[in-house]
Amino acid sequence: MIESKIKSTVRDVNDFPKAGIVFKDITPILKDPQLCMEITKALAEQLKDVGIDVVAGIESRGFLFGPTLAQLLNVPFVPIRKAGKLPYKTVKQSYDLEYGTATIELHEDALIAGQKVLIHDDLLATGGTVVAASKLVMQLGAEVAGYSFIIALDFLNGRVRLAPYNTQIFSLASY
Ligand code: IMP
Repeated sequence: MIESKIKSTVRDVNDFPKAGIVFKDITPILKDPQLCMEITKALAEQLKDVGIDVVAGIESRGFLFGPTLAQLLNVPFVPIRKAGKLPYKTVKQSYDLEYGTATIELHEDALIAGQKVLIHDDLLATGGTVVAASKLVMQLGAEVAGYSFIIALDFLNGRVRLAPYNTQIFSLASY
C-alpha cells in the first residue's frame, strides 16, 4: 500500500530546522523512481473527478511532484514562489511564521478569473503556507478547487485551518 511505502521511505530528522522539530525528509523518495511514479499516479487518481483547470505548486518541494501531477491531469502548472524570485509582475501575500513573516508571489497572468485551481505542496503542517497560497489564487479571481499533499501532519490541524477555503483536502500518508 502506498501509505506504508511512503512512511517506510521518508526519513525523520530530529531537531531540524531547529531543536524540538522532527522534520519529515522526503528526499529518499526521490531516489526511488518507481515510488515517485506511483505517488504521482495516486495523487492524480484522487483528483480525477475534482474538476481542476490548473495545478499551483508551492516553492520548493511543491515543484518536485506538481509539474508531473499537472501533466497527468493534462492541465497547466503554475509556480507560487518566495518573494523576489518571479521575474514578471506578481500578486503578493504575506503570512505569519512562528517568528516573523514570509511573503509568497504568483505571476499576475498565471491564472484566469474563474479557473479552478488545485494547490499542491509536499506536506501539510499548520496550513499557514497553503492558506496564503489560497489568498493569492483568490486575488486573481480564481477558485480553490482543493488541496493535494503527499504527507499531512494531522496532529497540527492544518485541515481545520483550510476548511473555510475548501474541504477537498487529499493526501497519501497521514501522521
Ligand atoms: P505549514 O505552513 O505549517 O503547513 O508548513 C508547510 C510548509 O513547510 C510546506 O511548504 C512544507 O514543505 C514545509 N514543511 C513543514 N514541515 C515540514 C516537514 O516536516 N518536512 C518537509 N517540509 C515541511
